Amino acid sequence: MTRPRTLLVDDPVLERSPFGSSHPFRAERGALTRALLEACGALHQDEVADVERLDERLLGAVHEQAYLEALIRAGRGERVDDARMFGLGTSDCPVVPGMHRVAMRAADATVSAAELVASGAAQRAVHLTGGLHHAHRARASGFCLVNDLALAIEHLTRRRGLRVAYVDVDVHHGDGVQGIFWERADVLTVSVHQSGRTLFPGTGAEDEIGAGAGRGFAVNLPLAPFIDDAGYLAAFDALVPTALSAFGPDVIVLQAGADAHWRDPLAQLSLSGDGLDAVYGRVIDLAERCCEGRMVVTGGGGYDAWRSVPRAWARLWARLAERELPDELPETWRRAWGERLGVSLPTRLREGTLPDLDARATERAASHALAVAKRVAARLTPLWRRED
Ligand SMILES: [Zn+2]
Repeated sequence: MTRPRTLLVDDPVLERSPFGSSHPFRAERGALTRALLEACGALHQDEVADVERLDERLLGAVHEQAYLEALIRAGRGERVDDARMFGLGTSDCPVVPGMHRVAMRAADATVSAAELVASGAAQRAVHLTGGLHHAHRARASGFCLVNDLALAIEHLTRRRGLRVAYVDVDVHHGDGVQGIFWERADVLTVSVHQSGRTLFPGTGAEDEIGAGAGRGFAVNLPLAPFIDDAGYLAAFDALVPTALSAFGPDVIVLQAGADAHWRDPLAQLSLSGDGLDAVYGRVIDLAERCCEGRMVVTGGGGYDAWRSVPRAWARLWARLAERELPDELPETWRRAWGERLGVSLPTRLREGTLPDLDARATERAASHALAVAKRVAARLTPLWRRED
């Protein structure tokens, strides 16, 4: 029997949000997507892989010990005097009992996905509740406690000797991952996001390019609100393929946040479901071209949690695992999960309603984005040459 080329790393614990059920970060999105795929016959039992426990030393290579200790103490309900300094106890990252365990488990899952790809057990591995790109070395931020992506990249580079291109299409700038690899030339970080001028976390300007040995290896494409599918894809195409082929990764790590969708309540880009699907498709094609298809894929943001996210991520899986999905979504899935979540779930894979866009605003956003993409490519191309 041939091994499946694409595996989903999953565990029932991952369905729990570290912050409890009243917080906007809904961890059930992963389970909801998995259930949809199973109901469609697009995910088979032998394509689900277990979560392995990560090596504690890896945690210490990415996060500062004082922060890890504060996180664990806070999660155990112990008093942490300098919690705010570590970004804990804020409205984004409230202190909730057991949160450290949930966050570590999500990190275990993304590192497990990375190891499946590094060992050759899978060509592509997916962890839908990962993608916690705002966690910094010594500070929680933006719903993120432990940077699972940075841990996976650290594992792939330092333990496995691989060159990693990190592509982050979440609507928010991938500040945590960028910061952690700021001075590294063996990790290219690429973030395409709504500009920090109008959105959290406020960073990701085009002149953020890395420093020291890592100069040129942080790539940012900030976008203006209301950019549509065509504008986004044109700017992406003008920068990201050149960067990836010049860098020559062994593996691509994709943070596939679904919050660039027009319905997302926390951001203002105007991508459709088809647009998001096309963006994911671009990155998968680039992996085929640059690194024999090797990819580690996580979810990320996505706060239109029950309509846009499961459809976007089901389509992402279908692309990765080369499956067809029906346009009419299974009634069994809609009923069971609709009741469980107390929401009405979509009936079709493709959305019927598209955003009502102001043509002048989308045009302005598109021409601005293309100009930024070309400037960044022109400035950084000389710095991307491989030295080996
Ligand atoms: Zn986001």
